[in-house]
Amino acid sequence: MTWSVEVDEHTCIGSGMCAALAPELFTLDAATASVVSSSVEPGELVLDAADSCPASAIVVTDGSEVVGPRP
Ligand code: SF4
Repeated sequence: MTWSVEVDEHTCIGSGMCAALAPELFTLDAATASVVSSSVEPGELVLDAADSCPASAIVVTDGSEVVGPRP
């Protein structure tokens, strides 16, 4: 079972934190970040990236359940 991850390009402020933390998961193009793949293996790294995003622009879902950012 994989998780889905997406970056809301309208919310992303282009800080680059996600790409610095997890370059295998996120890239920073021009002004906003994007995901390398929308399907990711479940794990701490993608959750840490979602938790660390200053704009809360990264959303991680397991099926219909939002698992990141964590409350
Ligand atoms: S950490 Fe958040 S705001 Fe910064 S580039 Fe990544 S998605 Fe955008």
